[in-house]
Amino acid sequence: MSYWNQAYECMSREEMRKVQSERLIKTVKLVYENVPTYRKKMQEKGMLPGDIKSVDDLKNLPFTYKQDLRDTYPYGLFAVPMSEIVRVHASSGTTGKKTVVGYTKNDLDVWSEVIARTFTAAGAVKDSFLQISYGYGLFTGGLGAHYGGEKLGATVIPTSSGNTKLQLSIMQDFGTTHLACTPSYALYLAEEMEELGIKRSDLKLQAGIFGAEPWSESMRQEIQDRLKIKAFDIYGLSEVIGPGVACECEYQGGMHIPEDHFIPEIIDPDTGEVLPEGSEGEIVFTTITKEGLPLIRYRTRDLSSLNYDKCECGRTEVRMNKVAGRTDDMLIIRGVNVFPSQVESVLLSIGETAPHYMLVVDRKDNLDTLEIQVEITPSLFSDEVKRLEDVEKKISKEINSTLGIGAKIKLVEPKTIQRSEGKAKRVIDKRVI
Ligand SMILES: [Zn+2]
Repeated sequence: MSYWNQAYECMSREEMRKVQSERLIKTVKLVYENVPTYRKKMQEKGMLPGDIKSVDDLKNLPFTYKQDLRDTYPYGLFAVPMSEIVRVHASSGTTGKKTVVGYTKNDLDVWSEVIARTFTAAGAVKDSFLQISYGYGLFTGGLGAHYGGEKLGATVIPTSSGNTKLQLSIMQDFGTTHLACTPSYALYLAEEMEELGIKRSDLKLQAGIFGAEPWSESMRQEIQDRLKIKAFDIYGLSEVIGPGVACECEYQGGMHIPEDHFIPEIIDPDTGEVLPEGSEGEIVFTTITKEGLPLIRYRTRDLSSLNYDKCECGRTEVRMNKVAGRTDDMLIIRGVNVFPSQVESVLLSIGETAPHYMLVVDRKDNLDTLEIQVEITPSLFSDEVKRLEDVEKKISKEINSTLGIGAKIKLVEPKTIQRSEGKAKRVIDKRVI
C-alpha cells in the first residue's frame, strides 16, 4: 500500500481532531481580523474568534455562500494583501460575474500536496506518465492537476483540453499511463479511439482520474470497460482549492478527504442544521490551512454523505460518497425532483444506447413536459424499426419508474447530441416561469 503522506492520511481520529482544532482556531482569527464580510457575519451572531475553542464549535460559525464571493468581486474575501497572492483562478459563471479565487505561495504548496495524495491514491508513482486533459487557464482543473503531478515526481504531459486526435496520438507516442479529464471526455476519447481504429494494446494507459462533473456508477463501468482502465472519481471545487478536495483510493468506496486541510460537514440544505453521521445532505467545507481565500462553512450545493468507517486501504480520512446531485441544478418537474444523473444511470443499465443524452424541459398549457433525447448506437440505427420501438418502450418504462414521472423518449441518430470537451451539457430548460 502506498501513501503520499502517511502521517496525515493514516492519523488517528483523535490526533486529527487536535490538528483540526488548532488550525480552525487560527483560520477563524485570520478571517475575523482581515475579512470585513466574516467579521460582520460573526458580529451579527454575537461571536468573537475566542468563542472557537475546538472543532466542536465549528457548527456555530456562519455559512459562506457563492453570493458572498460575487458581492465582494473580485478580491473582497481575500485574507492577505494582494502582494502575497501569487496566482488567481476564476470559475466560469453561467450567469453574472465570475468567482475569483486567489492563492499564496503556501496555498499552492497545499494544493500540490493534496493533488499528489490524489494521484498516489489512484496508483500513480514517480515513473508514471500523467496526461492532463483538463483545461489550462482560469479553470483550476489543468494547472491544479499539473503541479500536483510534478510534486509527485511523475512525468506530466500538459495537453490541456480539446484536439482529440492529437490527444490520442500523444497518448500512444508518449506512453501515457494516467489520464486526468472529465468523465464525459474520457468516454468521448474512447469513442474516437474506436473510430480511428486505435487498439487498446497501442496504449500504456492504466488508470484515469476523472472529475469536475457528476457521473454515475454505471458510467464508471462503461469507461472502465471501453478504455480497459481503472476509473477513479475525484472531487473538487475552485472555491475550496480546485481539484484535490477528495479522491478515491484503490477500493473505490467513497472519496477520502484530506481533513488536515478541509473539514467537511453534512447539513440540511433548508434548515442549515448539521445532520447525523451517515445522512445525505448538502456538503459544506471549511478550509483550515488556506491563507489567500480561507472559507468558513462554504455551501457547495452538492448533495453527498460522509462515511467515517475505517477504509481497507488503511487511510483513516473520512470518505465522501459520490455526489448524488446538486441542490440548485436539480430540476423540479411537475413537483418531482429530477437529477440528470438518474437518467444516465437508467440508460447505462439498459445499455442499448450510447451514453449521450439531453433532457429538454418545457411547459405546455401550464404543464411541465420532459423529453429525453437519447442517442442510439450505429448498430441499433441500422436495425429494424420494430427493434427501435422496443428499445424506446423499455427506456420509457424504466425512466418512468425511476423518476416517478413520465417522459417522452426520443431516439436520435448517432453523433447528433453535441459533445463537450469540458463539462457536458445535459439539460435544456425552456420553461418561462
Ligand atoms: Zn481508502
